[in-house]
This record gives sequence, structure tokens and C-alpha cells, in this order.
Amino acid sequence: MTVEKRNPIPVREAIDRVVSQNIYTKQIEVPLEDSANYILAEDIVATYEIPRFNKSPYDGFALRSKDTEGASGNHRITFTVIDHIGAGSVSEKEVGPFEAVRIMTGAEMPKGADAVVMLEQTVEDKQSFTIRKSFDINENVSLKGEETQIGDIVLNKGQQINPGGIAVLATYGYTHVKVFDKPSIGIIATGSELLEVGDELEPGKIRNSNGPMIVALSQKLSLDVASYQIQEDDLKSSIQVVRDAMSKHDIVITTGGVSVGDFDYLPQIYDAINAKVLFNKIAMRPGSVTTVAVADGKYLFGLSGNPSACFTGFELYVKPAVLHMMGATAIYPQIIQATLMEDLTKANPFTRFVRAIATFNGKAMTVVPSGFNKSGAVVAIAHSNAMIMLPGGTRGYQKGYTVDVILTESQAYEMDCFI
Ligand code: AMP
Ligand code: MG
Repeated sequence: MTVEKRNPIPVREAIDRVVSQNIYTKQIEVPLEDSANYILAEDIVATYEIPRFNKSPYDGFALRSKDTEGASGNHRITFTVIDHIGAGSVSEKEVGPFEAVRIMTGAEMPKGADAVVMLEQTVEDKQSFTIRKSFDINENVSLKGEETQIGDIVLNKGQQINPGGIAVLATYGYTHVKVFDKPSIGIIATGSELLEVGDELEPGKIRNSNGPMIVALSQKLSLDVASYQIQEDDLKSSIQVVRDAMSKHDIVITTGGVSVGDFDYLPQIYDAINAKVLFNKIAMRPGSVTTVAVADGKYLFGLSGNPSACFTGFELYVKPAVLHMMGATAIYPQIIQATLMEDLTKANPFTRFVRAIATFNGKAMTVVPSGFNKSGAVVAIAHSNAMIMLPGGTRGYQKGYTVDVILTESQAYEMDCFI
């Protein structure tokens, strides 16, 4: 049997091929309280202004600004308090000359009043108070519509719903939200050398660490994920289990068996199920053999068995695919720049991804590898919050160089400083 020749494509092109598939999840409605992290399936349009009425942003007194003209330390002006309203109440009185309504934060401005004096700016005396400065029209007033006008698009289709988005949806009365369903994932770890986590070690065998890692990566995206039993390197039963997973899930991830070794059956599995292979070689390390295919409107990810390559493949290809299927507008990995704090002299024919620790020291972002970083490495993944991305075709990188970095943890790059 001759070893098949594969053509490596650039990482960016590989991601482009993944996210240009016409594969989407269906639209569903979810209760507001469950909608966090879903992608919005419709624009949310303001049906009323925010604020809905002129209101006081402080506890104080609502009065007519023109009555405050000429007030100073030497010329205090006295106002009579004619009413007292808290948030949620509306005064029935109209404020006349040198009158004021005691008003609390969030309450609607009474008729006639056009400014608010904060409590701290007054000297009170039973039913009256004095002030010693003048106030402009609308001073200390939150104006109707100052944040949002009727018809404004306040949330966009394709936007991921974050806690602020939930607040906006709540403001506009959405008890249910139209979103794209989350894809379900089936994960199959393949390899005759694999043992379950609870198994005793045996000669030549290793425990399956990719399966649990992919489950955790999927859960981080709030996805439902089903783990299949370890699949030995056997073509017939492998085809069967992949078929079974495809019948139940939107995405099937396998790890292992993607190379050109004697027992690497993935190409034959994809052949057997008539999958369209989008690529089977990428100009990247680790994980150059990462393979992505589609069949029957489902994505099939053939990630490398090497743990670091497997992790990298999920971050670079599975994540964008999930976001694409869910109709998100922002789907590509976010790249930032950081100063490299160690030499990385290994020559790079392909783009190299290095599990790394990115740190913000209060002034700038720096980055170092997070440990032993071969493609089979596992510990360095656990200590990483980022991946350094080094373009191919260079001799290596020295300490002090600016490099591209993909953050793989959304927060918590180690902070040396707080505020
Ligand atoms: P493969 O992609 O099948 O050629 O495997 C590449 C390397 O990753 C081999 O050293 C495997 O033993 C190892 N490997 C494969 N699957 C797993 C797994 N699920 N967990 C940990 N290591 C694995
Ligand atoms: Mg294998």
C-alpha cells in the first residue's frame, strides 16, 4: 500500500472551509433565564425609549431651574416642599415658583420641574430647604430616550447573549428569546492502546485523556456532549460507531487514527460513509493531519490523538464551527499580541501553536510557553490560558519579539495587578 500524498493548506483557509458550510442548527425559543450564551436569532428592536420618562438619577428635590438663578453662598434661595415621591410613584402636583418635590432616585420628574438638586446640596428645614448655587435646565435629570430611541436595534441577530444582553431582553419584556439551538456533540476516542480512566495500566497502553478533555471543552461552550466507549482500531466497528453517533448528534468528533499509519482508519471511515473531506492536511503543528469532513448536514472532526494537537484542533476548528452553526457573527479565534519572554528557536516550516501562559502585567501582555510542548504533551495544556501562534517559514523567535496569541481561557490570564 502506498502512503497517500496530502496537500497542506493554511490554517486560515482551513477555518474558512469549515465555517463556509451550509450547516446550521434550527431556531428555537428558550426561556430568558436559560438564554445565556445562546446566539440571538433575531434583532431586538426598542419598542420604547430608555429611560421611558424624564427621571431623577439622585435622591433630592425636583424644582424649576429658573427659580435658582442668582443663588450663591451669600444669597441662599429657599424652596417649599409640596410633595414627596419615591421610585415607582408619580406626583400629581405641578411644581410652581420656589416650590419643590422631594424625589428619590428613579422617580419620574413632576410636572413643571426641570432640574434636580441633590440632597447633599441643600440645607433642610422641616417643609423647606435652601440652596446656594444655580442649576441649569435639565441639570441632574435623566432624559427620556437619552440611551435608546424607539426603533433602535439594541441587540443584534448573531450576537451571543451575555449577562448584559439578558438585562436588555428583560427590560423589553422578553420572557422567551429566539435563538439558534446548540449543536450536540458525540465524542469517540479511537485507539487500541487506550484504557478507560479507571482502568489499571497495562504494558503498551495509555489512558484516554482526549475524551474527557473534549467533553470539558464542549461543556465550556455549554454544549450537550455524549462520550462513546473507547473504539479500538478496527475498521468495521469504527464505521458502525461513527454512523451511530451521526444519527444522534450534529457534530461527531473522533480523536486518533487520522495519520497514515497501518491502523489509522479515519480516511477509510469517511470513505465508507460518503463524507466530503474538507481537508486532511493543514500547514500547522501540532495536528497537521487534523481532518474535517461533512456528511448529511453534520460535521465530522477527525482530531489527532496527540493531546496537544487534539486541544489545538478543537480550539481552531470545532469552536468556530459551533459558532457558525449557531449563526454567530463573531466566529474566528481572537488574536492579540504579546511580548515573547523566552527564546523559541525551533525552526517552523508550518505555523506552530504553542500552549502558553499570557500575562498582563498592568502595562503590557507577555507570553511564555506553559511547559513541555511537543504534540503529545498533556501537562502544558493544563497550565495554559493561551496559544502562541508562530507563522511558518521562519528560523525561530527570540525573547522580546512581538508574537500573535490566541486566548483560550476567556478571562484569567494571570494578572500581576488588580486595578
Ligand atoms: P494517533 O492520532 O492515533 O496516531 O495517535 C497519536 C498519539 O496520540 C499516539 O501516541 C496515541 O497513543 C495518542 N493518543 C491517541 N488517542 C489518545 C487519547 N484518547 N488520549 C491520549 N492519548 C491518545
Ligand atoms: Mg492511533
